[in-house]
Formats: sequence, C-alpha cells, structure tokens
Amino acid sequence: MSESVAPLLLPFRREVQGVSTWRAELHDVLEEYKEGAAKFIGMPDTVLYCSLHDPVTPCPSGYNTNKTVSLWGNSGRMEMTPSKFMDIQRAIQPDWFQCISDGDTISGEVGRKRAKKSVDRSLSFLDVCLQLLEKSPELQGSVMFGAIEGGDILEERLRSARETAKRPVGGFLLDGFQGRAMAKETKLKLIAAVTAELPEDKPRIIHGIGKPDEVLECIERGVDIFESFFPFQVTERGCALVFSYDCHSGPEAAVLKQNGAQDLEENGAEENQDEISKADPEMTPFEIFLKDKRYQDDFGPLLEGCTCYCCQRHTRAYIHHLLMTKELLAGVLLMMHNFQHYFSFFNAIQDALRDNKLDQLKKLVFRQALQGPANMKPGQ
Ligand SMILES: [Zn+2]
Repeated sequence: MSESVAPLLLPFRREVQGVSTWRAELHDVLEEYKEGAAKFIGMPDTVLYCSLHDPVTPCPSGYNTNKTVSLWGNSGRMEMTPSKFMDIQRAIQPDWFQCISDGDTISGEVGRKRAKKSVDRSLSFLDVCLQLLEKSPELQGSVMFGAIEGGDILEERLRSARETAKRPVGGFLLDGFQGRAMAKETKLKLIAAVTAELPEDKPRIIHGIGKPDEVLECIERGVDIFESFFPFQVTERGCALVFSYDCHSGPEAAVLKQNGAQDLEENGAEENQDEISKADPEMTPFEIFLKDKRYQDDFGPLLEGCTCYCCQRHTRAYIHHLLMTKELLAGVLLMMHNFQHYFSFFNAIQDALRDNKLDQLKKLVFRQALQGPANMKPGQ
C-alpha cells in the first residue's frame, strides 16, 4: 500500500472542510491499533475520507467480477469482496468512505452492456455493504457514499443515480469520470444529469477532477466535494501554483493577480522555450516550472503576497536549487505552498457562492486557463 495521505478539500455547499484520504490497503496495523487511521496518523481532528483507488494512479482494466473488485497497490493486485472491504473500513474507521463499486468503465468505448454491468454490480455491492454497515459498531460514526456508475451511457447513469438515491447512503460518489477517455462535453452533460436525480441534502463527491477550471465547471453542475490530488501532482513535477482566484478588487488582490499573471505570461516567453519543453507535458497554465533556469537568480517568493511558510521564508532561487540538487525539501516546501494556494482557491469558491459571484470567478480562472505556455502572448 502506498501510505500516502493526501488531504482532500471541498466546497461543501457553503462550508469548507479539511479532509484527508486514506487508501484501503494498510489494514493489519490499523486492525491491531483499534483507534482508526485519523488518530494513527496524528490527525484526529481532520475529516478522513477513504476512496477505493488512488486518484492519481490509473487502474488496469478488466479485473473486476460479479463478486470482487481488484485493487492495485505496491504488492500488486488485491481481490476485494464487499465483506473484506468492510473489514478494512472497520479498521480504518473513516469519517466518510466510498462503497466498493465497479468503476471499470473509464477506458472509453466500454459499451452499453459493460455500463449496465457496472451499475448492477455496484448496486449489489452497495446492498451487501449497507447490511454490514448496520452491524458494525465501529462504523456507527462513519458515512458511506454510494457510487454512481454507468460509464458514458446516460440511461445507465440515471438508473444508477435513482437506485442509489433510494438506499440509505450518506452521500454520493460520481465515479468513472477520471481520465481523458470521455469527451469533456459528454462528461459535463452526464454529471449534470446525474446530480439532478440526487437529493439536495446529501453531499456529492467526484474523483479525478482537480484542475481549477474543471472544478468550477463541476460545481456549476452540482458537485460539492473534490479530491486534492492536483496540488500533489503540481508539486511532483516541480511546479508552483500561481493562478489568481481573487475576483474581489482589493489592493492585495491586485498585486497577487498582477504577479501571477506576469509569471504565467513568462511561461511562454520565447527565450525560455527550450527550458519549458523539459517541463512535464501535463503542466497546466495555472503553475510555473521551478526547475527552469530563469529562477536560479530570482530572489522573490514563489508568489508575491502569499502567506504560506515557504513564501514567507524562501525564494524561488532556493526552491530551484533544491529541485536541481534533488533535495527532498523541495517537495516539502512546494507542497506547503501548493496546498495553501489550492485550499485558498476553495475558500474563494465558498465566498463566490455566498456572494453570488461564481460567474466572475469562473471568468477570471478561465482567462488564465486559456493563457497556456504554448499560446501565451506577452501583454495578454
Ligand atoms: Zn506560498
């Protein structure tokens, strides 16, 4: 098992909550410990959410059956039955967890038959797990999310949503929207159709959506909770988030905005094309690549105006140096900044929802989404 613990964050309607994910593998140790994963990792006050798969690692396709779902970890494939799955939840004692489900429909072109099977299997797993949940004293404080499956087949998605909503679940997971196999338009249409079938008073979480522009599109379509794998991925590729999300026009906001926009523009400056080409191809227009040699003499913070530990104490030049010498501290400091920036983005979403300014925020973020390294022009 990867013991990686990635905090989740969420615009849960109008409240922000910090959440951590714990993957469903390391369970022997926890079983002996008996007090659950949150206390074990020294974070007893965070909301702990347990997903079935690691959101940043694609799962091999074709291994699920009517009785089991395959999980993949450091030690290879693990076949999981609903009862084994619930044993693990009893050891982890998460605040929230997704029910085991057959979400093996994300490779595209899976067809109606496979989509139907994913819904049928997931509902039958859900029924078994709901019964086991009722009989588990350790899980009386835990909330189980039912998974909505059905690939890209609208009627299966609707059936999955309606049937899951009939059951006593605490919330809903919109599964199978990870990756790029499904066209974005199809994805957004299905998400809107599914959330329209779900009760308003239970939270909806989605897996695999983390880019700021995509997050906003999902929020508009009724999604409440997102994973925070995105700042982790940004950190892993040696980048820092510098996008602006402040659509209130305070003086501090203007500085942040100017600073971020300037850096994003510089991403596309011609003299740096060689360096930029060495950056991860997954890099988004919301971040800057700190390995770029232009930062070796840059003694400013990662982001002007940022109050994080890294920006208050260290320079871009220092982070560049740490990255070039492969010091582990580079990732630690970048993660601090990227988490704080991303979490603050979600605070801004909360504010925008409250003040009816989501459109403005969307415009601001989408403008930056278009200004990618490839098509950015100075002065834009
Ligand atoms: Zn910072």
